[in-house]
Amino acid sequence: MRRSDMLQRLDRHDGPWDIVVIGGGATGVGIAVDAASRGYDVVLLEQHDFGKGTSSRSTKLVHGGVRYLEQGNIALVMEALKERGLLRQNAPHLVSNLAFVVPNYDWWEAPFYGLGLKIYNALAGKYGFGASEILTREETLARLPTIRTEGLRGGVVYYDGQFDDARLLINLAETAAEQGATLLTYARVVAITKGADGFIDGVVATDQETGQQWTVRARVVINAAGPFADSVRRLAEPDVAALMAPSQGIHLVFDGAFLAADSAIMVPHTSDGRVMFAIPWHHHTLVGTTDTPIAAPALEPRPLPEEIAFILETAGQYLLKAPRRQDILSAFVGIRPLVKSGDGKLTSALSRDHTIHFDASGLLTTTGGKWTTYRNMAEHTVDQAADFARLAERACTTRTLNVHGFHQSSDRFGTLAVYGSDALGIQDLMRSTPSLAVPLHTDLPYTGAEVLWATRHEMARTVEDVLARRTRALFLNARAAEAMAPEVASLMAAELGWDAARQAAEVNAFSTLAKGYQI
Ligand SMILES: Cc1cc2nc3c(=O)[nH]c(=O)nc-3n(C[C@H](O)[C@H](O)[C@H](O)COP(=O)(O)OP(=O)(O)OC[C@H]3O[C@@H](n4cnc5c(N)ncnc54)[C@H](O)[C@@H]3O)c2cc1C
Repeated sequence: MRRSDMLQRLDRHDGPWDIVVIGGGATGVGIAVDAASRGYDVVLLEQHDFGKGTSSRSTKLVHGGVRYLEQGNIALVMEALKERGLLRQNAPHLVSNLAFVVPNYDWWEAPFYGLGLKIYNALAGKYGFGASEILTREETLARLPTIRTEGLRGGVVYYDGQFDDARLLINLAETAAEQGATLLTYARVVAITKGADGFIDGVVATDQETGQQWTVRARVVINAAGPFADSVRRLAEPDVAALMAPSQGIHLVFDGAFLAADSAIMVPHTSDGRVMFAIPWHHHTLVGTTDTPIAAPALEPRPLPEEIAFILETAGQYLLKAPRRQDILSAFVGIRPLVKSGDGKLTSALSRDHTIHFDASGLLTTTGGKWTTYRNMAEHTVDQAADFARLAERACTTRTLNVHGFHQSSDRFGTLAVYGSDALGIQDLMRSTPSLAVPLHTDLPYTGAEVLWATRHEMARTVEDVLARRTRALFLNARAAEAMAPEVASLMAAELGWDAARQAAEVNAFSTLAKGYQI
C-alpha cells in the first residue's frame, strides 16, 4: 500500500467514482473494504492519517457490551456478539479472547452478575468466547493478584474480545486496497460540489503534503467523518442542524505491574454509574474510561484534570497499589461520535447502534456505532448508498473475508504477533540487517525493521504515523516514544528522501505532540 500508487490511481481515474468516502477511521475504511469487495469503484479521502480520529483511541475491546444488556437492549448485544465472533474469525492475528473478572465485595454481586453474564454468553450462541463462572475469593486472587483484598468475597469471570484498534485499521486499509479501493491519507475534503439539479456530485480535496487540489466526481458521497460528521455536512449545506453530540473518554496507561495478570478487571458501576476497565494491553495496564460531553471535536483532544483524578481514584479503589499521577505513562483521549436522540429528522436509523442519515442534498452520513460492529455498519451503509446511487446490486462478501495479515497462530511471532503473516517480511528485514532487530527503546519492543515496514508498506508518512498508529509507542509510553523519535525520523528520511530540515521538523512536531500525552 503506497501513497504514490494511490495518487496514480486517482489521477488516472476516468469519470465519476461509484462511491467517495470521507474519513479514514473504522467506519470509512470498513466501507471501503465492503464496497471494493463487492466490486464498486471506491475512493477514500482522509484528512490526516488512518485512525487519527477516534479509531486509534478506543478501550481496545471487541465486545457485545455488557452495559447494553443491563439496559435490556438484547438485539444490539446479539448483533455485536455476532460481529465479535466474525472479527475473531477474520482477523485472528489481532483479536484475542480475554478473561474479565468482576470482583465482588457485596453478597448480592455474585448471583446478580453471575446470572447476567451467563445470559451474555448464551446470547453469543455459536459465536461464544467461553462460559462465565462464579469464582471463590482464592480463584479471584489467583486471576487478579493485585486486586484489593479488603472485603473481597469472590468474583465472576466472563470472556470478551480484545484487539489493537489502529493495527486492525491499517490491516483493513490494506485489505481494501487489495480489493481495488483507492485510499489516500493527508487528503482533506474542503468542499462538496453539486450538479445543476442541486444534488451532490463530488468533492474537492486538498493534498496536505503538496497543497494540490483535486476535484473528485462521485455517484454517491459517504460522510464517515465520525465526530466531525457535522462539519462535513455543513460543507454541503451550511445551515443543517447538528446531528452529533460528541463526548470524550480518556484512558490512562500504566506499567504492566499494576495489574500483573492475564485477566482484566471490569467494574460494572463506578461512583458516577459507569463501567470501568483495567486491561492488560501490550504488557501495560490500560485503565478507562470517562464520558464527558464536549462542545466541539478536536483532532488532539486533551484530558481534563477531573477525568484524570476520577480514573486514578477509581483504579485506587480496586488495585492493591494505587497508581499515582507520576505513574501515568500515557494519557490518551477519544471522542465518541454520538448521535443526538429525538431530533426526529433521521431519514433512516437502521439500528439504535448506528445511524444512517441522508441530507436533502443527497449526502449520506453514517455514524455512531462502535468499532466492534464496523463491518455490519459498513454493510448497511453500502446497501443504502448503492440503492440511492442506483449502482448495480451486489451482495456483501465481508462476513467471510480475511483481513490482511490473517494468521491462525501469530503468537509464534512474539512481539511481531500483531502483524500476522506480515511478521515474516519484518523478520526478513531483521535477518538481512541485524541492527534493525534491536529495540529502539529499552522500555518498548519496537524496532527499526517495523519503522521501515510501516514506511514501505503501510503508508506511514510522518514520525507520528509510525509511533502512534503503526506501532503503539505513543499510547503505551509517551516519554519513551519521544525518545525514539530522532531514530525513527532518520530511518524514515532515508526511505522518503527527507532533508535535514524536514527530519528536524518531524522530530520537533512529534515531541510537541508527545508532551500532550505526558501528565
Ligand atoms: C473513549 C472511547 C472508547 C471506545 N472503546 C471502544 C471499544 O472498546 N470497543 C468498541 O467497539 N468501540 C469503542 N469505541 C467506539 C469506537 O472507537 C468508535 O465508534 C469508532 O472508532 C468510530 O470510528 P469512525 O470512523 O466513525 O470515526 P473516526 O475514527 O474519528 O474517523 C473519522 C475520520 O474522519 C476524518 N475526517 C474528518 N473530517 C474530514 C475531512 N474534511 N476530510 C477528510 N477526512 C476527514 C478524521 O480525520 C477521522 O480520521 C470507543 C470510543 C471512545 C471515544
